[in-house]
Amino acid sequence: MSHELMPEGLWTGDYYNEGTGQSDIFDTLKEECGVFGVFGHPDAASLSYYGLHALQHRGEESAGICVADGENFNYHRGMGLVKEVFDKDKLESLKGGMSIGHVRYSTSGDSRLTNAQPLVFKYREGNLAIATNGNIVNEPKLRRELEMEGSIFQTTSDTEVIAHLIARSPKDFVEAAKDALKRLVGGFAFLLMTNDKLLVASDPNGLRPLTMGRLGDAYIFTSETCALEVIGAEAIRDVAPGELLILDRNGLREERYTEAGRKALCAMEYIYFSRPDSDLNGSNLHSARKRMGSKMALESFVDADVVTGVPDSSISAAIGYAEQTGIPYELGLIKNKYTGRTFIQPSQELREQGVKMKLSAVRRVVEGKRVVMIDDSIVRGTTSRRIVNLLREAGATEVHVRITSPPFKNPCFYGIDTPDRRELIASEKSVEEICREINADSLSFLSPDGLISAIGGYDEHSHKGGLCMACFDNDYPTQIDFNGEEKMGCSC
Ligand code: SF4
Repeated sequence: MSHELMPEGLWTGDYYNEGTGQSDIFDTLKEECGVFGVFGHPDAASLSYYGLHALQHRGEESAGICVADGENFNYHRGMGLVKEVFDKDKLESLKGGMSIGHVRYSTSGDSRLTNAQPLVFKYREGNLAIATNGNIVNEPKLRRELEMEGSIFQTTSDTEVIAHLIARSPKDFVEAAKDALKRLVGGFAFLLMTNDKLLVASDPNGLRPLTMGRLGDAYIFTSETCALEVIGAEAIRDVAPGELLILDRNGLREERYTEAGRKALCAMEYIYFSRPDSDLNGSNLHSARKRMGSKMALESFVDADVVTGVPDSSISAAIGYAEQTGIPYELGLIKNKYTGRTFIQPSQELREQGVKMKLSAVRRVVEGKRVVMIDDSIVRGTTSRRIVNLLREAGATEVHVRITSPPFKNPCFYGIDTPDRRELIASEKSVEEICREINADSLSFLSPDGLISAIGGYDEHSHKGGLCMACFDNDYPTQIDFNGEEKMGCSC
């Protein structure tokens, strides 16, 4: 984490936030990005605003909307939350019936406006705007090849690489985009827009979620279905791995740019990232998380007085654990939703205490009680230790930690910003050692089979239920050479 101080003393590095695990004092996994596209609605910009607002948890660093009116692009991007970047006047200036929008998480030090999406280019066929969610694993190699051929890059974003690949092709836009997409290795959901076309593409393994909906005659594309609900749109189907959807004056064409690989939707979307009111492949996230908690109870029951979940993502699983065991579910931990951004540089002491700004243990609920604490994952272990200690300080006599995912041992190459493998506590330590490190009385992780069966419904006949589980089992669905050149994390 970078902790820069501006001359006037304003904190520009990581901040306490109101969000869902973004860059802050917690060592939780960082969200990736969210994309939202509209085709064929006269008020595309307003729909995008509300859609991006619903996807805000996927990225709080920057937001942007680009609208096409048939002849020109109108766009606005800025640093900050959707509600900070856009106001009524800005939205009213974005006229047109087709749009792509983006919310971005970025690693610290890389949160520059130049990287805010959608990125907009001019090339020989006209305007081109691109928004993406995910990570191109072979981006360094492609970038180097393009630079050797004379390309000059303005940003560090993956998105610019695909723009250069398209611009250098002698083929028309759709064929050039297909050729460009074929060269990418990684996990990605792309929205590409010209003055008169919208292209929608998912990577060959379907690693990142991307759903199509309808609102009247308009088509909507979104990283999560919760953004469809908010604008009153109906979910139609997920964009398939390797699929390319082409929307223009002739309507929708469903094509492929490549063969589908093995289905491998990110398991962490189910466990942690997506909102509980979203559906993935027809399965509601709250219900899936409840089943994870229930499985957890069957696999590693412990006698206790109360079950509590670390808010917000683990509450559903805690309810499932409680229902399965009969141990009452209680709100033993409360999240302070109004910490917001504070531009005060936290001292080390404050950073250590910082967990209390975001979470409080409810003394009257946990005092004198044996507590089962449900959480979704352990990354470095520091957050878990702080929360266990919060519960102990509030009087819990025992704290038993149950994690609704297998141990997180391997970095992600497909759009989730994870620390280096050596910083992942589960890659270095046994379950017993982690238990001691986080000061818990007992610790269990959900088994991989338990996770797959709890998620269920996705694709029971596919390898691993059609899920990517690489951060747990090191079985990456794409080729990874581990020669140091592949790019990890998120680079939307
Ligand atoms: S490695 Fe883990 S976090 Fe990354 S896509 Fe696969 S399941 Fe998701």
